[in-house]
Amino acid sequence: MSKNCHMIHQWFNGMKKFTFPFDKKEIPENGIYILFEKSEFAHSTNRIVRIGTHTGNNQLRSRLFQHFLNENKDRSIFRKNIGRTLLNKDKDSFLEQWEIDLTTKNAKDLHSNSVDFIKQKETEKRVTKYIQNNFSFVVFQVDDKNKRLETESKIISTVSLCEECKPSENWLGNFSPKEKIRKSGLWLVNELWKTPLSDEDMIELKQILKIK
Ligand SMILES: [Zn+2]
Repeated sequence: MSKNCHMIHQWFNGMKKFTFPFDKKEIPENGIYILFEKSEFAHSTNRIVRIGTHTGNNQLRSRLFQHFLNENKDRSIFRKNIGRTLLNKDKDSFLEQWEIDLTTKNAKDLHSNSVDFIKQKETEKRVTKYIQNNFSFVVFQVDDKNKRLETESKIISTVSLCEECKPSENWLGNFSPKEKIRKSGLWLVNELWKTPLSDEDMIELKQILKIK
């Protein structure tokens, strides 16, 4: 398990890394992204802290936009989780309001008097700042949706099952109210501790990444 995790850490860390601001044109339209976070290390290199993809066709760029730029927590579970953690760390009671999904007009109307929208905007700005300043990522192209979801899931499981991948003492995620984030050391709550990459999957992934 750790052996494959070690290998993918070397592969991904050897690829072209993006930080904010990045050139959209360099991002494939379909694929998987791997996130690294400042001060987090594993396998003698940068530790993988999140793996993600998209379901809709040609949505990888817009997915990354939703995480890095679009100040709407209800469109990005990653932003929602960073916000939850920043608020929880501060023991800020706004956390309760941050949990409310305001996507529908109905929800917006229902909560228009109970949500502090100024505080919400401020929190969105903090989340953006944290994400833009602390995360870098690599991407690789996978056009087939099922293949994307399968590969994403197996990479998540490989990293979550690895005994050598541990968050640092100061990792922000240690303050997350979500137990799965604290336990896994990953900004994720799904696909953890399931089926990892097999040796056959590793050969295939190496080909996808065009590693010789
Ligand atoms: Zn590992």
